[in-house]
This record gives sequence, C-alpha cells and structure tokens, in this order.
Amino acid sequence: MIASKPTIDAATVKRRAKALGADLVGIASAATLNAFPPDPRWPQTPDRISPYCKSVIVLVQRIPAGAFRCKTNVPVQYIDMLVLRKMDKVAYALAEELEDAGHPSFVTAAQETDWNYKRASYGRLSTRHLGVEAGLGTLGLEVNILTPEFGPRVYLTGILTELELEADRPITEQVCIGESCSRCLHSCPADAVLHFGIDKRACATEAQEFGFSTILQFFERFIDASQTKKAEMAASREVFGFWQGLLRVVGSFGDCPRCLAVCPVGNDYHAHLADAQKAIPEKTPAKVALGKAYKESRARGDEIAGLNDWNSRWVGPEGYKGIVARQLQEFKKQQASRDERKIEPVLADEGRD
Ligand code: SF4
Ligand code: SF4
Repeated sequence: MIASKPTIDAATVKRRAKALGADLVGIASAATLNAFPPDPRWPQTPDRISPYCKSVIVLVQRIPAGAFRCKTNVPVQYIDMLVLRKMDKVAYALAEELEDAGHPSFVTAAQETDWNYKRASYGRLSTRHLGVEAGLGTLGLEVNILTPEFGPRVYLTGILTELELEADRPITEQVCIGESCSRCLHSCPADAVLHFGIDKRACATEAQEFGFSTILQFFERFIDASQTKKAEMAASREVFGFWQGLLRVVGSFGDCPRCLAVCPVGNDYHAHLADAQKAIPEKTPAKVALGKAYKESRARGDEIAGLNDWNSRWVGPEGYKGIVARQLQEFKKQQASRDERKIEPVLADEGRD
C-alpha cells in the first residue's frame, strides 16, 4: 500500500510561516499568476520556472521603522540586508518542511535580475505582484506594494510549491491614498515617481549608487583613461563603494529609502514615523504641481498606463475608499485603550494607603 501524503491546508501553512518568523503570509494560485503576468511581453510567471508549481506562498518581512528615523540612509541600507537574510531563512525552512511532508517546494530569489528581461531590475517573478495576488496589499503611486500593516516598508519572497492550497483573494480597494497624497513623489530625489509607475533608470541613480550600471560606466571610463588617471580612479570612493556593495550589499541596491519612509500607510508609520517624516525636505513647488496634474488627469478620465484595464488589477480596481483613515482611527483607539491599561495600575497604586 502506498502511504498517503499528510494533508496540509492553507491555514496550517500560514500558521507555520508565522511561527517561523514571517510577519505576513498569503497564498497565490500559480494558475492565476500564469494568466496575469505584470507585463505580458515579459511574462514573470511561475510556469517559466517550473511546470509543476500549483501555489506560491508569499512571505512578507517588515523593515523595522527605527531605521527610517535616522539622520542618513545608511541604517536602512544595512538593515535591509538583515531583513532579507531573515526572510530567506524563514522561507527556506518552510519549503523544507513542505517537501519533507511530500510536496516538492523551493524558494525563489527575493532580489534577482534576469538579464534576458527588460534592461532594468526585473526578476523571474515580480514579488510585489505576487504579494497583490496573495491578498497582502496593492501597488502605490510609486508601484511599491503597500501592505495595510506596514505600508511599503517590507520585503517579500515566494515559495513555489506543488501543493494545491486555497488562494487568498486580492484586496480590491486601493490601499494607496493616491494623487491627493503624492508624498512619495514629493520625496523622490530622482523624480522617478510616475503616475502609478516608476522610471527605473532614474530611480537606480539614487537606489543603486554602486549598482551594475555604475560599475559599467566606471570601467568604460577606466579603459580610456591615462595611466595617471587610472591610478587615481583605482583609489577612488567609487571602487570602495563597489567593494562594499560586493561584501555587504550596501550601495548596490535599496540605497534610497525616501519613498518608503514618507508613505503614511501602515500602523508602523502612525506609531513611529509620523513625527520624524512629517516634513519632506525634498518637496518643491514643481513636484506639488506634478501631483496635482496627476490628480486632475485621473479625474478627467485620461488614459493612464498604470491604471489601464490590465494594470488596475494590482492598484485596486475599486479606487481609494479610505482604508488609511479607517486604520488610523482603529490605531488611535487601540493606543487609547493601551494607555488606559497602563494608567489603571498607577491609579490603583495611588489609591492605596
Ligand atoms: S527609491 Fe528613492 S529614487 Fe527610487 S522612487 Fe523611491 S524615492 Fe525615488
Ligand atoms: S506616499 Fe501616498 S501616494 Fe505615495 S504610495 Fe504612499 S499613500 Fe500612495
């Protein structure tokens, strides 16, 4: 007699992922991901990786808010790497447990670029789109995934499994406040935030200061330089940056946290960032005017690539319905009852003779 595989359902997988240390977890159906690639010209779909995958378990790891309260971006750059390490370990352990239970499973690289795709950082799967399909959030104005819990201050990864699991439903309302907020646009030092889109090359100038294209440009200049200039370049800050990027990842990606830091979505923002990030020093009248123009364009019903019939699926087809305001009210209520609980023992002490 052939031993049957133990039954594992979606709730069990989620409980286990959380117990291992994931902050959020959702499940997307591989069939849905195959049917709706983010850009059909360059399909980032599970079937291009494995013909057997039935479900993708999507894990979210939050970036601690404390790092966004610092004077420079360096603490975020370092903690990003720690978050990724933790997330990979959690995902690996879960994949191993599923496989031990009889269901072939593996983890994809959370941060990778497939050279054959568009000439920018596009992986074999788009983790933010995985997150939307798994019901964990929706894309914002700057097309980061915004989770209601932690806004865009998250990393995501996917476990591809041959186990059929019940998929979560995507959130249909827009989590991003939208054009009337535009804080990500105001903060962006590279003017890379488009209308529910991003100029990846512009973003890379800040977010990948010592990334691949900077290395290429450096060596192009190096090859043509004189001997004296070559010696100078070899001892420059850029070479140190490349070395540090190889060693610690710092500088090679995720270098600019500004659009993450200022986004008011998420209880972590209300709890720890609202004071430190209220003012946006990079805000200019031109940026404010651009946000206003985006708002007017949407109100007129103009054709907007990021909000067309295909892409609105990931932005939230119902539009913004006040999720951030609702959460803020709920957060304040919880804070108030927590404060009351703290005060009660003090009052009880005061009443004692
Ligand atoms: S990461 Fe920085 S440069 Fe890139 S879109 Fe966000 S704010 Fe702009
Ligand atoms: S900062 Fe505002 S506009 Fe930008 S993603 Fe967050 S909620 Fe949306």
